[in-house]
Amino acid sequence: MKRLLLVGLLVFALPLWISCAKKDDSGKTKQQGAQKETEVTMTIPEHIPHYDLKIKLRQYTKVDMGYDAAVLSDPEKEALGKLVQAGRVVDDIFFRQVWSGNAALEKQLNDVHAYSHERPSSEIGENHTLILDMIRYYNINFGPWDRLAVDSPFMGSLPKPQGANFYPEDMTKQEFDSFLAQHPDKDEEFRGYFTAIRRKDGALTAVPYSEEYKDLLAKAAGLLREAADILTKPENTAKVAKGVDYTTLAAYLRSRADAFSSNSYRQSDMDWMDVKDNTIDVTIGPYEVYEDALFGYKASFETFLAIRYPADSKKLEGIKRYIPKLEASLPIPAEYKNTSRGTESPVSVVDLVYSAGDTKAGVQTIAFNLPNDEAVRDAKGTKKVMLKNVSKAKFDMILLPITEQVLDPSQMDQVVFDAYFNNTLMHELSHGLGPGTIHRKDGTETTVNRELKDLYPAIEEAKADILGLYCTKMLQKEGFFEKGMDTKGYVCFLPGFFRAIRFGASSAHGNANMMEFNFLREQGAISLDQESGKFRVHLGKMPAAVEAMAKELLMIQALGDYDAASAFIEKYGQSSPELDTLLAKLKDIPVDIEPVFKAEEYLDKSLQRHVHNVPQPQEHQH
Ligand code: ZN
Repeated sequence: MKRLLLVGLLVFALPLWISCAKKDDSGKTKQQGAQKETEVTMTIPEHIPHYDLKIKLRQYTKVDMGYDAAVLSDPEKEALGKLVQAGRVVDDIFFRQVWSGNAALEKQLNDVHAYSHERPSSEIGENHTLILDMIRYYNINFGPWDRLAVDSPFMGSLPKPQGANFYPEDMTKQEFDSFLAQHPDKDEEFRGYFTAIRRKDGALTAVPYSEEYKDLLAKAAGLLREAADILTKPENTAKVAKGVDYTTLAAYLRSRADAFSSNSYRQSDMDWMDVKDNTIDVTIGPYEVYEDALFGYKASFETFLAIRYPADSKKLEGIKRYIPKLEASLPIPAEYKNTSRGTESPVSVVDLVYSAGDTKAGVQTIAFNLPNDEAVRDAKGTKKVMLKNVSKAKFDMILLPITEQVLDPSQMDQVVFDAYFNNTLMHELSHGLGPGTIHRKDGTETTVNRELKDLYPAIEEAKADILGLYCTKMLQKEGFFEKGMDTKGYVCFLPGFFRAIRFGASSAHGNANMMEFNFLREQGAISLDQESGKFRVHLGKMPAAVEAMAKELLMIQALGDYDAASAFIEKYGQSSPELDTLLAKLKDIPVDIEPVFKAEEYLDKSLQRHVHNVPQPQEHQH
């Protein structure tokens, strides 16, 4: 006899359940049987009371992702609906990529939610809100691990598998390496971006994504083709704004749909680079490898749907002209400057209308630079896309409140969105400046990345931040930026440190920010007013301090000097009591945003309420 256990104090048995979910047979019994009689067991782990979960949720503030819908014609709205639907499929794929137990856990949460929803509050008390909170945090994190707390579990107690669901959970690094040592012919497919490693009859095998996610990818491909057809139908093309032509976007959508079944993504990456400036901007597929913390080989699925503002993008295109000049102006000897880099990388400014998968998990992306395929990068360069409305939301909801706590009030008026946005733009641009390939004296070659190894990300991020400020000043001198942009940039940088440090000092960005703060503080470009407990930026000292730091970082890179990088990080990468005190003052300010997408209104009516089979928490008032 099956029983419902969700009564009274909620006899939650989640940790127990999670350990069952890993095994196939016991997982299956939970999913069989008629709805009502399904055994619903769930336990809140004692170490995380509801109060703690509420504090965790407060780290994310909900934001409506607004954009100007007036620029869209009816066919574009219809196509957007199909693309949003494809994005939902991408969410499903990413849930699967994160953890093998996600499908079963999601069902469990839905069952418990449905059950509690039918009960009077006198019977279940606060447990209904507790379940909604769990579902919300689960959806934000795409699994039961807290992305803002080094992936510690907030439901159950299982540690997150390092290789997510890209590898068998019991596979070690050694097993993978020794398998490849014995089967060198399998190297490419095993280390490839687009395969999952599975165990078949006890032996490791590489399964192409096209097979691993076949059901979902077929669905997504169909939707991409539908969107392409809508955008290119002759009766529809007449309805879109003058000068907008979706031929190139449709070519990308179709070749990407083909890639979902062929598992060969290069052609569609090429097509993505060739997409002309249209109103709708689409990026969908397997891209970044951060989720694979075991090796960093496997690509996660994600989607960005956006609306482009041609005027903003065109203005930024103008920066490209200055790239050779900026490289020539770097404060290092000429022999270390990189004069062979391409300058063809386009920059787009867009408003995000929908995102899905990897990019939506945890902290929200404000800019991206794709594709990652080196062959495509060599042939076509990369495209930088800046998500303006996401930046604006973070500026309003997070940066301004931080500014009020940390910055001397007399400098508050310098903190403006344009300068903040510009710092991000210049950061992205600066990744493309400075040493890349290192020519050794003995005639051999290596790269900065290879020489700095694990320290490379932190040094590279710090370089991009600092060079960003350096270049803003240069571009102002050239007349590209209006007067005062440099000083606003310096001041905006200070609350920016605090915003980034809160993502965790162990992350490359957090670590980089710690180094920048400490270096500039040592140079006297930032000082603390003991009385008010707030920091002040010394505009007169900033240019020289920025140049000094740029020089140190660029020379570490130019020489590929691992020891110097290590010493620099050791010296400047540590927090201090004064910083810890200030960070504690910021604890009530959200760490990041949780986007709420208006674009879901373009979906067919029947789909509008479906969000992972879980009603949106805000739709319930209990
Ligand atoms: Zn960066």
